[in-house]
Amino acid sequence: MIALYCIVVPHRLERKAMAAQSPRADASAWCRPLLEGTQLSMLVCDPVSQEILDANDATLALLGFTRDRLLGMHLPELYARDADDADALRPETCRLHSHVRHIAGARGEIHHAILQRCAIEYGGRDAVLVVLQDVTRHVEAEVQLRDTQNELLRAQALALIGNWIWDAASDSHVTSSPEGYRIMGFRPDETPVTTAEIYARIHPDDRPMAERARERALLDPDYKYDIEFRLIRPDGEVRWLHSVAEVRRDATGRVVKMLGLVQDVTERRRAEENVRRLAYYDTVTGLPNMNRFENEVDDRLVPLRRGAGRGRGPARLACLIVDLVRFRDVNYALTHLYGDVLLALVADRLAAVVGQAGVVARCDARFPIVLDGADEDEARRWAQHIHRALEAPFAVAGISYEIGARVGIALAPLQGLDFHTLLRKADIALYQAAHLGRNVAVYAAEDDPHTPDRLSLIGDFRAAIEAGQIQLFCQPKVTMVGREIVGAEALVRWVHPEKGCIGPETFMPLIESTDLIHVLTQHMLASAVAQSEAWRAQGVRLPIAVNLSARDIAALSLSEHLRELLERHGSCAGLIGLEMTESSLMQNPAESIAELERLSAMGFRLYIDDFGTGYSSLSYLSRLPVDVIKIDHGFTMQMIEDRRAASIVKSTVHLAHDLGMSVVAEGVSNARIWDALQALGCDEAQGYFVAAPMPAALLLDWARASPYRLQDEPVCA
Ligand code: C2E
Ligand code: CA
Ligand code: CA
Repeated sequence: MIALYCIVVPHRLERKAMAAQSPRADASAWCRPLLEGTQLSMLVCDPVSQEILDANDATLALLGFTRDRLLGMHLPELYARDADDADALRPETCRLHSHVRHIAGARGEIHHAILQRCAIEYGGRDAVLVVLQDVTRHVEAEVQLRDTQNELLRAQALALIGNWIWDAASDSHVTSSPEGYRIMGFRPDETPVTTAEIYARIHPDDRPMAERARERALLDPDYKYDIEFRLIRPDGEVRWLHSVAEVRRDATGRVVKMLGLVQDVTERRRAEENVRRLAYYDTVTGLPNMNRFENEVDDRLVPLRRGAGRGRGPARLACLIVDLVRFRDVNYALTHLYGDVLLALVADRLAAVVGQAGVVARCDARFPIVLDGADEDEARRWAQHIHRALEAPFAVAGISYEIGARVGIALAPLQGLDFHTLLRKADIALYQAAHLGRNVAVYAAEDDPHTPDRLSLIGDFRAAIEAGQIQLFCQPKVTMVGREIVGAEALVRWVHPEKGCIGPETFMPLIESTDLIHVLTQHMLASAVAQSEAWRAQGVRLPIAVNLSARDIAALSLSEHLRELLERHGSCAGLIGLEMTESSLMQNPAESIAELERLSAMGFRLYIDDFGTGYSSLSYLSRLPVDVIKIDHGFTMQMIEDRRAASIVKSTVHLAHDLGMSVVAEGVSNARIWDALQALGCDEAQGYFVAAPMPAALLLDWARASPYRLQDEPVCA
């Protein structure tokens, strides 16, 4: 770049005033050596015609003209695109005038030049000395800089980034990019803004954090200012901003300013929030999912593990699982879409009940809950609140549904200090509740089938069948009016050489979760056929009903298996009953109905077991070719004290009779229950009041000694 020199040559008109300080001289004489000795391009022009009278070598070199060519040209002829500026050359105005001009060189190239002019006397006449300063490279660099700046601003705007500078002296924030203000919701005419004005816009929840970060950045030179916070724009819109900054200090360490970048990261935060929601929340109910629930429980267990809550936080918690009893019914009847609606309604009620006392999550048709600080009594009270909250019917698709719920409870630290143990125990408690026909149960180790001891028992199960330890016990069923023994239920017992007589509650849950259940069912069916044949040989008609599990109905081709079995024993279907629960049929409703139809056609008596505890769907029930409904002992045994249980028993009796089925009440354990059932018109009774389950071989002896009559008509044709 050509440096700028300032050459001041006084004009003749000013000479008088300046005479005292400066000697008078004709420029043509002293100018020549100056013209030739400098790197600056200089021209001498006629002030009126603008004719170029003289030029130095530097000018010729710059513009590429020969001296002959240039002298005699007029200055405006050099201008590439500017208007004539004759005025600028007039002696009275030209002094110290400087203009930027585009000058065309001999090869047509354009020079950006600053033209400085001053009036001189040249060869005895008035003239103007024009100093030509080539600033082409400077201008190009500036244009490039401006372009770069514009691009930067555009890029910042695209990336929603703005920069800001806080000046310590004035406590004002300025930004060099409009985007910076836009991001913070300020109009350009509102700027600069003070720190207080900015902080007033930060979300109150984030403000203390932002203030702390700023204070630290100003105090601690090693601190990295890098924060994210919410900013509330004047129109109320909340945006997430990410701000990083650097503090500049002077030589004494005093803070001079802070330079920062601010970026609008709302979209990123929203995407993250979405991912977080999908990862940790259930989309149907909005409740935490199991991942999140595990974290919540784990967080609460940490202090308990450290010292069971010594001083810090509650010393215990309760883990509950709420299982919706009739949920599948709605799901099957109304499709999953409405099932989801129901789940969301249940979720709302549960969340409202639990409130701040803990966390409710969702997993299928179950709602695990953690309750802070709850012991057994409190957990049971919460279970009651939950039952009450779910009592009122739910309106789904214009129909009102009643949903039953069962609650399993496990307690920490008493029953475990890790999430999986607690959840498993709450699950087992749930199973125990279902088994006992109750709607709440707290985990009890003695009823847990999954203890190592029991698991090893399962390993011995096949061998136990071979060894004859898995035995057929029978419990008689009698008619309530005629007091006639009309059949028996086959109940399994493991007669263990060391452990004694083991009931099904110890091993059935595990057996049912493996294919061993088929082995057991086949064994029980074969034993039942053999036993009833043995009685028939003694002239006694005593059909035996065998319990089927859900997996049997799905996996065994029962009708085929039973046909072979009967053939082998020369027996008939009338001697065998089959008991199954509604829920076991619901696992594969269409196929179950088809299989039941085959079995019914073959002459087997079909029972719905544990009626009232499962997913009762009246429309489904009426389509089943079932002969008998068995009222669950949970209702029977409570019917004297509990009016609700009594009314369920009563309506089940009516319903069964309306559908042309007969009713057996299980769990008839005393005379009061017997009388009450008889008054309701129940057909048959089974329970300890009649007889406890006994080894099948002892049943006839019992029957003969009992007040009940044995049937003697043959059943097989
Ligand atoms: P379940 O089918 O409901 O059988 C009736 C249960 O009620 C039997 O329990 C019986 O002993 C009990 N019970 C009968 N009368 C009374 C009474 O008056 N009071 C009380 N408190 N209980 C009474 P058990 O034998 O322990 O069987 C439990 C469950 O195990 C059965 O419930 C059945 O679901 C299952 N189970 C038993 N044997 C078999 C089997 O061979 N195969 C299958 N798949 N399940 C079986
Ligand atoms: Ca049964
Ligand atoms: Ca039952």
